[in-house]
Amino acid sequence: MEDVKKGLFVVFTGAPGCGKGTQARILKEKTGIAHLSTGEMLRQYAEKDTPLGRELKALLDRGEFATDEMIIEMVKSRIMEPDCAQGFILDGFPRTLPQAEVLEGILAEKRIKLNCVLEIQVPDEIIMERILGRYSCMKCGAGYHDKFQKPKVYGVCDYCGGTEFSRRKDDNRETVQNRLINYRLLTYPTIPFFEKQGLLKTVDGTGTIEAVSKKIAEILKI
Ligand code: AMP
Repeated sequence: MEDVKKGLFVVFTGAPGCGKGTQARILKEKTGIAHLSTGEMLRQYAEKDTPLGRELKALLDRGEFATDEMIIEMVKSRIMEPDCAQGFILDGFPRTLPQAEVLEGILAEKRIKLNCVLEIQVPDEIIMERILGRYSCMKCGAGYHDKFQKPKVYGVCDYCGGTEFSRRKDDNRETVQNRLINYRLLTYPTIPFFEKQGLLKTVDGTGTIEAVSKKIAEILKI
C-alpha cells in the first residue's frame, strides 16, 4: 500500500471575516504550499457574463452558499493539480457537513492525512467591524482596512504601488448578517465532526495579523 503523503495539509475554518484568507496568504508565503480559497474561485466564476456567472453573482451578493455538488467538483479538480502535492491550505472549504464528509473520502483516496483543522475564533461584534472596513488592491490583491491596516501612503498600495482599490460586494451589513447565520447553521456542525477525529485546533483570532500568524505557526510547528 502506498504511504501516506508527507507535507502540510490544513483546513482553515471560522466565521466570515475571522482572518482565514489573510492567514492563509501568510502561510502560503512562509511555506510555499497552495492556497485554495473556494470563495475566490467562486468570485472568479461570478465575474463571467455567463448564465452560471450571473447566477453565482446573485447568490454571493445575498450571502448564500453555492451548492455542495458544484463546490465539491471545484475542489476535487483543484486538489489534483501539481502545486497541491506538497501541501495545501483549504480556506472556506468544507463549509457544510456533506462537504466535510466528501473531503474525508477525497483525502483517503489520495492518501493525504490532514495535519489539522484550525478554527480561527473571533466574536461576531469584531467580525462586523472587520468586514465592513476591509478592501483590497485591485492590482495585487493585498488586503487593507479603513482602521486597522491602512496603506503607508494614502491611496497607494504598499506592495505594488497600485492606486485602485475595491471592496467585496458581499461585505455589506445585510449580507454579512446572512453569512453569519449560514455559518452558524451550516458550517458550525463541521467543528464537532473534526473534533471527534482529533483534528481540531483552535486559535484566538482577535489579535493583530502578525500575532495571530505567529500563534498559527506555533500550532503548525513550522
Ligand atoms: P469567502 O471568500 O470564503 O468569504 O466566501 C465568499 C462566499 O462564497 C460565501 O459567502 C459563499 O457564498 C461562497 N462560498 C465559499 N466557499 C463555499 C463553500 N465551501 N460552499 C458553499 N459556498 C461557498
